[in-house]
Amino acid sequence: MHEMALCEGIVEIVEEEARRRSFSRVKTVCLEIGALSHVAPEAMKFCFAAVAARTIAHGAVIEVVELPGVAWCMACSRSVEIAQRYEPCPCCGSFQLQVTAGEEMRVKELEVD
Ligand SMILES: [Zn+2]
Repeated sequence: MHEMALCEGIVEIVEEEARRRSFSRVKTVCLEIGALSHVAPEAMKFCFAAVAARTIAHGAVIEVVELPGVAWCMACSRSVEIAQRYEPCPCCGSFQLQVTAGEEMRVKELEVD
């Protein structure tokens, strides 16, 4: 489950921010998860609770903003929204798509005390 490793990375980010901004408690961690990132929001919430125990992020709530997958269709010469990688263009059915967004998983913001 790669969500575990991702959550460890998030806890590291939170701890670094805590040192920089000197806060002592994190209430919410807001994540942006792209539709094409292969990251399951539910798994992230579950893993985070386990990984964050006994760290400054203990008890923090994970909030997920899901971003759509976007690809550039070479046949249409425009951006189209796709739900999965290797899907054909929803407009023309072409498979000549280049993914331009939706693969990311990042910490958008932290709500702290
Ligand atoms: Zn197209």
